[in-house]
Amino acid sequence: MKYILVSGGVISGIGKGVIASSVGTLLKSCGLRVTSIKIDPYLNIDAGTFSPYEHGEVFVLDDGGEVDLDLGNYERFLDVTLHRDNNITTGKIYQHVINKERKGDYLGKTVQVVPHITDAIQEWVERVAKIPVDGDNYEPEVCIIELGGTIGDIEGMPFVEAFRQFQFRVKRENFCCIHVSLVPQPSSTGEQKTKPTQASVRELRGLGLSPDLIVCRSQNPVAKTVKEKISLFCHVDPEQVICIHDCTSIYRVPMMLFEQNVLPFFNQRLNLNYPEKPRRTLAKWKELAERHDRMLKEVTIALVGKYTKLEDSYISVIKALKHSAIACNHRLNLKYIEAADLEKCTQETDPVRYHEAWQQLCSSNGVLVPGGFGVRGTEGKVAAAHWARVNKKPYLGVCLGLQTAVIEFSRHVLGWEGAHSTEFEPDTKHPVIIEMPEHNPGQMGGTMRLGKRRTIFKDKLSVLKRLYGNPEYVEERHRHRYEVNPKLVSQFEEKGMKFVGHDVEGERMEIMELNDHPYFVGVQYHPEYISRPMKPSPPYLGLILASIGKLHSYISRGNRLSPRSTFSETDSEDDEVSELASNLTDCVFGRDT
Ligand code: GLN
Repeated sequence: MKYILVSGGVISGIGKGVIASSVGTLLKSCGLRVTSIKIDPYLNIDAGTFSPYEHGEVFVLDDGGEVDLDLGNYERFLDVTLHRDNNITTGKIYQHVINKERKGDYLGKTVQVVPHITDAIQEWVERVAKIPVDGDNYEPEVCIIELGGTIGDIEGMPFVEAFRQFQFRVKRENFCCIHVSLVPQPSSTGEQKTKPTQASVRELRGLGLSPDLIVCRSQNPVAKTVKEKISLFCHVDPEQVICIHDCTSIYRVPMMLFEQNVLPFFNQRLNLNYPEKPRRTLAKWKELAERHDRMLKEVTIALVGKYTKLEDSYISVIKALKHSAIACNHRLNLKYIEAADLEKCTQETDPVRYHEAWQQLCSSNGVLVPGGFGVRGTEGKVAAAHWARVNKKPYLGVCLGLQTAVIEFSRHVLGWEGAHSTEFEPDTKHPVIIEMPEHNPGQMGGTMRLGKRRTIFKDKLSVLKRLYGNPEYVEERHRHRYEVNPKLVSQFEEKGMKFVGHDVEGERMEIMELNDHPYFVGVQYHPEYISRPMKPSPPYLGLILASIGKLHSYISRGNRLSPRSTFSETDSEDDEVSELASNLTDCVFGRDT
């Protein structure tokens, strides 16, 4: 097993996760099996209790692990399935050590950060790195470990010390470090500054770790002289200084690393024997990046949510929309609408915000209502579902978005005044959405239905079944407590709201579709978690296709995005990208993967 530790310097939030995933992508493109571990040095056990305002989205894994959103990056880039233990937090490590202490495993010794916490970290990393992530039973060969925060943070110290020891434990040829740093360019002088990088590398060395690669994040390409200066002051060869400047999309990063000879470097430093040449897979990333930059047409989607101030709150939803838009050759124009702004204009509401929100909603091509918790904004989401249903605008409701569509339908089509979810109105006369916790034996307080569950298609004519490629069932990830009241389903179905996918027992409604509507779909699960840049999630793809008026032609062609025939019916610019597009189509639908 080869371990690559990725640490950060100067400030966080400069794309360390993307760089780490891109290194993994590069190595994977050579035929190596790659896994990853994300370390978050906070005390929370997991991300389950995080507020989306503060930390962004809670990412959910197949095994039901609620983890940091960076694991989503790894899954999307590396196309792997990670496990809850691939996310280490200080809380998890301490809990593990304290449990052992309570059991008497330390035989009366004083339990200390060094060696007990640092040993626990090393053992955890060695154990988790071996867990297969490619859907087969093969152990990974390379493990990318991203250490959250920046070098020098108090919280990160036990981890840095653990890896200082770890480099000797696993031997030099099996361990290397990448340090991602910032090269600022203050506007006053316009010069690129290396001092912050020098200081953070010095700090890293002081803690006993030497960088094998220094990755400089900068606004513009780093000048040769600046690179030489970093090499000189940070005691590395110039080829160990890698520059990643701001670029048009994150899909460019694997190629940027490749062009700076990162692969031969690892080959030599870690004694890697690459089974394959990387060309084929990397060409797909290059195509994807070029396609991303060349799209001329636009599709406007309204995202009606609650945490619209922080983009990270809906990161997987946004990525899933982007994957689908790229596959359809359209630039995504996303309008964030604060759901509460769509609510009835009263004396308390701001009329400007109200009118702006409705203006944005009405000028969009499609509507997406994502998952959420808490009552604020629900009436706005109901109003958005109503508008989309009545005006025949494409609508995708995810989790709470499905529930609000059902509430809307029961109020306005079935005439059940005051129909609601018991989450928001426990005493409602018409409980159309009710709590249906899953029984988790042995797990205290675990009332949320989490992780991968099967949905069986009940209806041959379901749009979603066709979008998924006509399977008998699909498996998607869940994170919810409330569901459609199964006792009322026949009444909904009589009026045209069909529940075309159920759980295995047939009690839980998983997929809703509306008759006589171009695309009005709700899913109780979160399909965004397993969307990939080259394998877009079918419910999201359906929304985009319907929003650009191509859903029927796509389905009638047997789920093929045929650029020449499907997309160049009216527009000539499609021809320009037809070759790229047909290549992408091949990889989207796995003909050659
Ligand atoms: N609050 C709803 C529930 O618990 C929806 C959850 C979600 O959208 N993730 O069922």
